[in-house]
Amino acid sequence: MNGYGIRPVKSLGQNFLLDNNIIEKIVSAASITNNDLVIEVGPGAGSLTKELARHAGNLVAVEIDKNLIPLINDVMSGFDNFEIIHSDILKTDIKDRILDKYTQYTSYKVVANLPYYITTPILMRFLENSFPPSSMTVMMQKEVAARMSAGPGCKEYGSLSVVSGYYCRVKKIMDVSPNCFYPKPDVSSTVLRMDVRDNPEVVIDNEAFFFKLVKSAFAQRRKKVSNSISNTLGYDVQKTVIEVILEDMGMPADTRAERLSINAFAELSNRLKGIVV
Ligand code: SAM
Repeated sequence: MNGYGIRPVKSLGQNFLLDNNIIEKIVSAASITNNDLVIEVGPGAGSLTKELARHAGNLVAVEIDKNLIPLINDVMSGFDNFEIIHSDILKTDIKDRILDKYTQYTSYKVVANLPYYITTPILMRFLENSFPPSSMTVMMQKEVAARMSAGPGCKEYGSLSVVSGYYCRVKKIMDVSPNCFYPKPDVSSTVLRMDVRDNPEVVIDNEAFFFKLVKSAFAQRRKKVSNSISNTLGYDVQKTVIEVILEDMGMPADTRAERLSINAFAELSNRLKGIVV
């Protein structure tokens, strides 16, 4: 990086992975073979990128920082299965820019050491896409990973857990110490493998309403879920109506959001939607 006059840009979440052992474990956890099209978000200085290209059929990396493009092109010059796209991943049309060019593949995998400041928007961009990946093996801040993989009853369980569980089967691969990066981040990291479900975990009549309801249920997480929803959903829905539905579902009327499984949220959403929408 010195040779290119490049310094890590903190505002772009640039913490570069130095540890080859970790890099190999990420690629192995993602089960990359030469039958795979892989998309990497933020190749940075290319340490993970090189290892991915060694295993993948094709690798497309999307990098926002134009100063890194000449460096990454040099680092990857020996690979003819690699393409770099200089773009913001949050503004990149995945189908148009990538999938339509690699039509020999019927699916793709995402692998990334994510820029932590936009972890959730990046994951949601892939999941809400009409063409979602088959899996995402991604490094993120440890606390965010704990929320993504938490189940009902855990203190980390919240709307992010419900949304990621709705779309994916989530498996923790490993924790990674700040010492494995340059510069050292202020936080610890975790690698998750998120296998995207062919069909969502539960049947939901109205996805937008379901997501709104989940968010509102956790908006006042210390209160009863009936109160939190009644106060924050934005529809005129009495808390007693919610309590009657909960009891009918076999749950106490004073249940808190952290006790509701994805299935319970789905049922509550389907029933409430019929009343309020
Ligand atoms: N993959 C490299 C590694 O593991 O060493 C770098 C990872 S670093 C944590 C995050 C990378 O994402 C940086 O290269 C940064 O420039 C890039 N990045 C940040 N925001 C981005 C965005 N919106 N779109 C694409 N890349 C982005």
